[in-house]
Amino acid sequence: MELFAVPDLPEIREGDDLAAMIDDRVDLRPDDIVCVASTVVSKAEGRVFDLEEFPPSPRATEIADRLAALTDEEKDPRFAQAVLEESTELLLEAPFLLTATRFGHVGVNAGIDRSNVPDGDLLLLPKRPSDSAARLRDGLPVDRVVVTDTCGRPFRHGQRGVAIGWAGLPASRDWRGERDRDGRELGVTVQNVIDEIASAANLVAGEGDGGTPVVVVRDWTFGDHGGSDNHFREVEGDFVRQALREWRYEER
Ligand code: GDP
Ligand code: MN
Ligand code: MN
Repeated sequence: MELFAVPDLPEIREGDDLAAMIDDRVDLRPDDIVCVASTVVSKAEGRVFDLEEFPPSPRATEIADRLAALTDEEKDPRFAQAVLEESTELLLEAPFLLTATRFGHVGVNAGIDRSNVPDGDLLLLPKRPSDSAARLRDGLPVDRVVVTDTCGRPFRHGQRGVAIGWAGLPASRDWRGERDRDGRELGVTVQNVIDEIASAANLVAGEGDGGTPVVVVRDWTFGDHGGSDNHFREVEGDFVRQALREWRYEER
């Protein structure tokens, strides 16, 4: 397996034909996987907004005031309003905002970015990243596209790349029924391959001013295995999410 970044992509603007821009810069093969950072998908789809466009509700103001008091930093209630508008459920409102987005992803600040955009601008995640992946795929000579984002996770320090949208491949590979080296049948392992691909791509893309939002994964095949599109957990059966609903941050 080989990964490389698509070179020489310019600053992406609303309306840009990202697929054509990628196709112009690299000789793609049909079995390549094209991984695209959500940042540039959002820019192309016009998901850049000004803080002014989110006049804060009393609820957003209350959330921002509490966060400001807790963190001793300024918290813009308009930012809290944008997060609320992007979310279907608020899982934590302190000591940071953790929410579920419309398409099922759970992330800090609903995945809204303020890096790699001008000051005062907000970059919202694509509305439906899997639809974005499917549209990119239609414009590219490849079968598989993954839309990535950088995301924190519980239990571990640091952020890493995850898949938030995908087209042309299953989200996971099912190992159940296959055998380990001692001949035991695997009973539970379902490997989330799109997250693993996204994290490898994200490692190549980087987080700063590299200008490399698109990464090609070459020579990796899913193979002849069972798979599924299960990716974001349903609330029912997600016990960690259920436990978080009961939890309240207490100031010490
Ligand atoms: P995210 O992980 O989707 O939130 O995206 P990041 O903001 O971490 O950016 C990932 C990569 O894309 C980095 O190498 C950035 O420099 C690059 N990048 C972000 N926006 C643009 C853009 O408009 N054009 C180009 N060429 N690169 C960009
Ligand atoms: Mn991001
Ligand atoms: Mn990133």
